[in-house]
Amino acid sequence: MIIITNDTPTATAFKAALATEASTLLVFQHANRLALPTIKAVEALPLALPSYAQVVLKHHAAVQASREFHPENTVITTPHSVIGDGGLTVMAGPDSIESPEHVATMGQEVKAVGATVLRGGSFKPRTSPYSFQGVGESGLIAHRQAADAAGLDMVTEVLDPRDVDVIDQYTDIFQIGTRNMQNFALLKAVGAKRKPVVLKRGMSATLDEFLQAAEYIAAGGNTDIILMERGIRSFDNKYTRNTLDVGAIAVLKQMTHYPVFLDASHAAGERALVTQLTLAGVAAGADGFMLEIHDNPDAALVDAQQAITPAQMGDIVSKARQIHTIVRGV
Ligand code: PEP
Ligand code: MN
Repeated sequence: MIIITNDTPTATAFKAALATEASTLLVFQHANRLALPTIKAVEALPLALPSYAQVVLKHHAAVQASREFHPENTVITTPHSVIGDGGLTVMAGPDSIESPEHVATMGQEVKAVGATVLRGGSFKPRTSPYSFQGVGESGLIAHRQAADAAGLDMVTEVLDPRDVDVIDQYTDIFQIGTRNMQNFALLKAVGAKRKPVVLKRGMSATLDEFLQAAEYIAAGGNTDIILMERGIRSFDNKYTRNTLDVGAIAVLKQMTHYPVFLDASHAAGERALVTQLTLAGVAAGADGFMLEIHDNPDAALVDAQQAITPAQMGDIVSKARQIHTIVRGV
């Protein structure tokens, strides 16, 4: 249930009264609105509603993610980026942190062509246990230094709840990858932090499941969530690694107030397709996008086929900004 009261003080006072009456009742507040995820009918409320309150019973199960609870866009502010404010945010970098020198160079390169966030994995989710797993904490240190030197934010993937604290010491933004979208222990662990999270859509996840995964993070009190469409499994992955669900971007923008991003690198799996797919996602209303880049793409340690050069990235960013200007407010 969502209760819409006349003003924020009324909602705050009703929340306090509910806490006194039923100390274990779950209540979330956004301005003049209260969400009570476990209450399904007015009769189940332990107190009478405040006068003039309006009740919404039909809302998404991921109630905190819903526009009914939080009509306006969530805007996330990091040291170098403002995300979800109607602008277009670019996150880019190598798939993996390879060496301190390499990530430092990549930081300067992506900054020069419009990124405000430097990506790169130090803990890598690989299909085979024998593939390169990332360099670990030394990569976090190098990544942090590269981001600071270039004046960028840092985003990096966390694979395991036990790594959340160490990664938290370095990063500005956590990334949860497609393979962990429903790793509930991990979602809860980042939900306990007060730092933005890029949550990638599971490769076979429905949009309802995607929002419910975000809700796990929000339930812990962390509502700085960026949803990232990165392509889903379909029947044909011969020519594209995944199927970019462009429609999902438009739908999510309607359903939820969280910023919606796309990652065309993992959707395409092929560098020649990254430009078109990124532009398609921006046309569908994305608030930003992620790109995997490398100065010598064929030599990238991971995901070489989809890595693009900083020059190709520059071309994408300038075209994407033009498209973004056209579709803004559609
Ligand atoms: C990545 O960003 O390098 C990555 C592993 O992405 P995904 O989780 O979308 O496969
Ligand atoms: Mn990758």
